[in-house]
Amino acid sequence: MKVIDLINNNNSGKPLFTFELLPPVKGHSIEKLYNSIDPLIEFNPAYINITYHQAEIMQVTQNDGSVINKLIRKRPGTVAIAAAIQNKYTIPVVSHLICGGTNKDETEDTLIDLNFLGVKNILALRGDSKRSAEFIPEKNGYSNASELVEQIVKMNNGEYLTKEIFDMIKTDFCIGVAGYPEIHKEALDMQSDLEFLKMKVEKGADYIVTQMFFDNKDYFNFVKACRDIGITVPIIPGIKPISAINDINLLEPTFKIHLPEELVSEVKKCKTNKEARVVGVEWAIMQSKELAEAGVPGLHYYTLGMSRNIKKIAKAIF
Ligand code: FAD
Repeated sequence: MKVIDLINNNNSGKPLFTFELLPPVKGHSIEKLYNSIDPLIEFNPAYINITYHQAEIMQVTQNDGSVINKLIRKRPGTVAIAAAIQNKYTIPVVSHLICGGTNKDETEDTLIDLNFLGVKNILALRGDSKRSAEFIPEKNGYSNASELVEQIVKMNNGEYLTKEIFDMIKTDFCIGVAGYPEIHKEALDMQSDLEFLKMKVEKGADYIVTQMFFDNKDYFNFVKACRDIGITVPIIPGIKPISAINDINLLEPTFKIHLPEELVSEVKKCKTNKEARVVGVEWAIMQSKELAEAGVPGLHYYTLGMSRNIKKIAKAIF
């Protein structure tokens, strides 16, 4: 089932419950992931997202004791995991796909694999650079997510990069893209960021899912700004519960988002991460309730492996 159909056919009077998981670290078991999913099944997730991770620079010690920088894919396996989760739980999976670290031909082959495996939903993203501050596309790769959306839409129309083979089938992917209520960290200003978001939608994205935000006003203002410039597709809010005291130091600079003072002062009072998690869950429940009352199409949770937190929120909302 496609995400856009799930949204359009939802007559439950509640937003869809969805969440995002990371593939296990290289060499670790997929059971870890299943252990994160199992406690959330009783809340009927409409779909599950699985993130995509390109190779990153890691320091590797060689036999002679010297240390070198090596590009390693720390979390491989997105496509295989997407199919495994779909088969095990019969819940649609949204496979994230990025431009970073890959070229157009490799992307075409990944899309072919996803299609063979029956994974119909893709979140098309640019990704961040793992080698420099600024995003540098691969040779014969893409510079932004719009170009990736374009390739997926072309395959949906039976148009592949490889022109030498005939009678190629049309795929039927549903495409989501990312939106930034507090603007993307590299964007010049909100207006240009919105114009580029509109471009992704005009190229064929079916819906938008947002970056995390902690003040619902940011989401409501963003949706209004999107509607004002003619973006009409569903916009699903992304929620991340605070899960450690240090989140109040890390999240703002990493994602260029802001945390409300009230939340920061509550977290500062915490002596342990366990206490911070309680504050984070309460805040996320408060956010989720207000968003649900406003009639959002879905509530999408960033789990970062903390499905116990998401379970507490889901219990209060779904
Ligand atoms: P784009 O839409 O390409 O935008 C990137 C920047 O370029 C923006 O500043 C935009 O304003 C600008 N821009 C866009 N189009 C153009 C253009 N035509 N010309 C000039 N400038 C342009 N990262 C991962 O590596 N793996 C994941 O699984 C993953 N999942 C994510 C899920 C969600 C919901 C979100 C919000 C982010 C996720 N990310 C993931 C992070 C994402 O890859 C980064 O935020 C990345 O920096 C931007 O990706 P994008 O798709 O929004 O990029």
